[in-house]
Amino acid sequence: MYAPPVQRLITELGKLPGIGQRTAQRLAFHLLRADAEDANALADAIREVKERIGLCEVCFNLADEPRCRICQDERRDAELICVVEEPGDVIPIERTHEYRGRYHVLGGALSPIDGVDPEDLKIAELFARVEAGGVREVVLATNPTTTGEATALHIAAALRERAPGVAVTRLASGLPVGADLEYADEVTLGKALAGRRAL
Ligand SMILES: [Zn+2]
Repeated sequence: MYAPPVQRLITELGKLPGIGQRTAQRLAFHLLRADAEDANALADAIREVKERIGLCEVCFNLADEPRCRICQDERRDAELICVVEEPGDVIPIERTHEYRGRYHVLGGALSPIDGVDPEDLKIAELFARVEAGGVREVVLATNPTTTGEATALHIAAALRERAPGVAVTRLASGLPVGADLEYADEVTLGKALAGRRAL
């Protein structure tokens, strides 16, 4: 129906989350109409993040150096680790200004049905960080979804055995159940952080 390069662009855009076939077509035609400069800036930005951005060697947050900015920041409390599913979950927590500890990004949530098992996430790396010592509390800030809750319970149970002296807490209820952390507003998320409870 379209020339192969146009079809290829539509196919690639259609792989993005939340982009259906019609939106992919609309975006493709927008790019075809756009200045070459603007369209190339988008292509370059995509290429640059893929080349320059990797995962922090400590917490697996996004980083353009071996360690992310938060892990490099000596003013951040290293005894406090907040566990989230995705790098995108760090941003809403940072926006609350309620949290001054470090992070650990799992890279997803446990979901045996989808084939996501503990070894597919950065869970062993979290245990290694905690067992290395110097950690007083692990805040489980996985999403208030079925998979997020299961992940929190799995980690809490394992940490109780591996590091009994470390407090394990969960965000307070009040977050919209079933929704992702990244959609929570700052006030609600700030309250959930401040009111976290032992698991
Ligand atoms: Zn880091």
